[in-house]
Amino acid sequence: MSEHPHFDRPLRAYCPNFRPLVGRPEIGRATKALLYLWVLPTSALALPLVALRALTGGSTFLHGGVVEVHGRLVRRVLNFGPFPAAALTLGHVVLNQDDTARRLYRHHELVHVRQAERWGPLFVPLYLGLAVRTWRRTGQGYWDHPWEVEAREISGI
Ligand SMILES: [Zn+2]
Repeated sequence: MSEHPHFDRPLRAYCPNFRPLVGRPEIGRATKALLYLWVLPTSALALPLVALRALTGGSTFLHGGVVEVHGRLVRRVLNFGPFPAAALTLGHVVLNQDDTARRLYRHHELVHVRQAERWGPLFVPLYLGLAVRTWRRTGQGYWDHPWEVEAREISGI
């Protein structure tokens, strides 16, 4: 039971087998390569953390074409600023606080990966713009964010 009432909304689209396009066997190699390129400007924001992870502890996983990473440096980044996050998706890279967060939020983050595949280099500016617009309308830039609502509905978390 969450203390936030939005967790109690009925899940209209819960889909436990949801996958980003790069993890779907029916998608060809050439299409997957184009998807990685389309999303690369967003994924590139996280690649330094993936590279430095080896020096700062933690682990890196490849799951369904998506890189999942956690470690001390990643945790510092996720806890930086006013909005700490258990996990954060940047393109085809998912940053996690730890291995528990990786397992717990994987399906939620994979929905964000699919959103990144949809919007490519526009993912971050659109996410931030929608957060501001949603915050102005409801005062809840995260909980009412349409991409967060979609991720909760599809992943169930
Ligand atoms: Zn989310």
